[in-house]
Amino acid sequence: MTARTRADLAALPSYVPGRAIEGAIKLASNEVPGGPLPSVAKAIADATALINRYPDSGATELIAMLSARLGVPAEQISAGCGSVTLFQQLVQAMCTEADTVVYPWRSFEAYPIIVQVVGAQQVQVPLHDDQSLNLDALLAAITPETRMVVVCTPNNPTGTAVRREPLTRFLDAVPDNVLVVIDEAYREFVTDPEVPDGVELAKEYWAKGRDVAVLRTFSKAYGLAGLRVGYLVAPPEVTDAVRKVFVPFGVNALAQVAAIASLEAADELLERCKEIIAERSRVHAALTEAGYDVPPTQANFVWLPLGDRALEFAEHCLTHKVIVRPFKGDGVRVTIGTPAENDTFLTAATTFVR
Ligand SMILES: *Cc1c(COP(=O)(O)O)cnc(C)c1O
Repeated sequence: MTARTRADLAALPSYVPGRAIEGAIKLASNEVPGGPLPSVAKAIADATALINRYPDSGATELIAMLSARLGVPAEQISAGCGSVTLFQQLVQAMCTEADTVVYPWRSFEAYPIIVQVVGAQQVQVPLHDDQSLNLDALLAAITPETRMVVVCTPNNPTGTAVRREPLTRFLDAVPDNVLVVIDEAYREFVTDPEVPDGVELAKEYWAKGRDVAVLRTFSKAYGLAGLRVGYLVAPPEVTDAVRKVFVPFGVNALAQVAAIASLEAADELLERCKEIIAERSRVHAALTEAGYDVPPTQANFVWLPLGDRALEFAEHCLTHKVIVRPFKGDGVRVTIGTPAENDTFLTAATTFVR
């Protein structure tokens, strides 16, 4: 081939999706174990009759529903093909190659890839030793070139969440020309009452003239990972800019009806999350009992900071037919599954020789 691709892509880490192996238990991608509710499956099936038509490019009905539920004007909500796409749109809308995105690390794997693909600069800010976000260090990393700072709470892959007092202290201190992006992919699994709802917090800060954006998704608690739909709640200037860089018809028709049907069945879906939350406590306690050092988690996964033994641990789990998600040299993230799946994982974990 003689066509010239971008030379800088050679240095780009590839996004590693969770592995899928026939017959194995997949606890690698933070999906929920339950399939679609009958009402959601029916809405999707009914909508197939119209797939010769383009979808509503503005996802109007979905956004109207979110607007009513969140108490946020529709023009301050954007839907996207998964919240990762909205994160990409945000970076595209906010940053040129001279501008910087500051984010915690280790955190969501998509951040470094997206920032580099867009061509902006990035600053990774190490977590505290206890695996929680270091907000003081995030603040200290902000320079006049910074356009965005990301707060992933609960943080993927460590599960730790940021409480209200430190978060408001941080928001008060961030320069007002920097957009704070709160990534709340796991919000629905949060049970700690001290952890604020990002959308409610954003409203408080908008009232003070401060720019805060929140990313949410239907992929996790709402169980629609396979359909790709998420949303952004942000100041109107930000959602306007994000709409300018969007790929037309990004949220497909089936995803839109499924998201609407899922919001209608929200009570039932969130009820299902309670079982996962109960299992999270059980798995966390069992791992701690077995001598693992597991940070407190507010998400649907646990983090084992195993350092150099991360890959070995994942291989050991595979011999028990359990797929977990290792991050080389750092740790292993394990999604909470059904009680039986978790039991199989715990058998693997407790037989790992450390
Ligand atoms: C899973 C995840 C997302 C997003 O997912 P989509 O499926 O693209 O909506 C976003 N942020 C974090 C931190 C996640 O873990």
